[in-house]
Amino acid sequence: MKHSNIFVFIETVNQKAKPVSWELMAKARELSEKLEGSEVWGVLLGNELDEVCKEAIARGADKVLYVKNSELNEYINYKYQKVLVDMVKKYKPEIFLIGATLEGRELAGMIATELKTGLTADCTGLDIIPEKELLAMTRPTFGGNLMATIFCPEHVPQMATVRPGVMKELPPDFKRAGEIIVEEYQMPEVEKLIEVLESIPVKSGSNLQYAPVVISGGNGVGGPEGFKMLRKLADLLGGEVGASRAAVKKGWVPYEYQVGQTGKTIRPVLYIACGISGAIQHIVGIKESDIIVAINKDENAPIFEVADMGIVGDLHKVVPALIEIIENKLK
Ligand code: FAD
Repeated sequence: MKHSNIFVFIETVNQKAKPVSWELMAKARELSEKLEGSEVWGVLLGNELDEVCKEAIARGADKVLYVKNSELNEYINYKYQKVLVDMVKKYKPEIFLIGATLEGRELAGMIATELKTGLTADCTGLDIIPEKELLAMTRPTFGGNLMATIFCPEHVPQMATVRPGVMKELPPDFKRAGEIIVEEYQMPEVEKLIEVLESIPVKSGSNLQYAPVVISGGNGVGGPEGFKMLRKLADLLGGEVGASRAAVKKGWVPYEYQVGQTGKTIRPVLYIACGISGAIQHIVGIKESDIIVAINKDENAPIFEVADMGIVGDLHKVVPALIEIIENKLK
């Protein structure tokens, strides 16, 4: 079998796919149109995932490889690595895309190491160089000051991880046709290295990536108290609270809130940056937002260069005024 297809790992939690899987599926469709003779394969591990299989086809998969085994219900790195490495050896994909979630980052590295192939982590752009049939993997480098495009010409599969929220998913089309391959896989006896005792979902900041409105605070907020005001504004607008690394480093909010190069990449309809200067490492995480509003007391703050609207002023006066206006409108 020639290497030609594109594998997309569909990460699931509680029998549901994580949105990043569909974002990658949409990108894989686009790549497949430029890669002659290629098909998009969704790869799923676990049990009771029939609905996810159907959705994978609706979201753009030509085939779904469903490794059905209750032992794979929960993510255990060495088990997932073993299965996925075996699937790559059997079905020989040319490209393998994985979401840069906590699990995906680990898994991608483990698979690439075992297969002795290249992996580009945290890509912000993927394209095909048609004449070479190569995947062009673009990601920020040197602290976000440069964009590097990386190729993996000597080894297969060409592997990339992409952070949630970077690519745009396609709406599902349940009339699309596709094939589901249920893989009978006997999990080999392996030494039990990890046992999952309990799974506790993280609550704070976990909805940030898919919130339509994000109100972020930076150094200018001045402390954890200031974030309560941002939370109030976010609640009124049906949104979530984010933060710059400076605010996270000071312990005002947990890391889950951090937006930017070493935090989350988001693309809300409305992003309001309060007391954030606009460092490049912050901007890379928000630049795809539809509308960026900046509130900053320094009229020369770099954030105003990327903002669609700016308010020069003290956020401790501007934010309460906004809250008051919205509350009055809602009365
Ligand atoms: P500051 O730069 O201190 O800016 C505070 C702003 O608030 C100023 O513009 C000031 O005028 C304004 N202000 C102060 N008081 C008020 C007030 N009362 N009302 C209105 N405005 C006020 N940063 C991130 O955010 N996310 C990342 O993921 C990230 N990753 C990084 C990765 C690397 C490798 C490196 C080197 C850095 C990274 N950083 C990241 C840090 C980044 O370079 C900046 O240091 C950080 O974003 C600054 O945060 P800030 O804008 O909140 O603080």
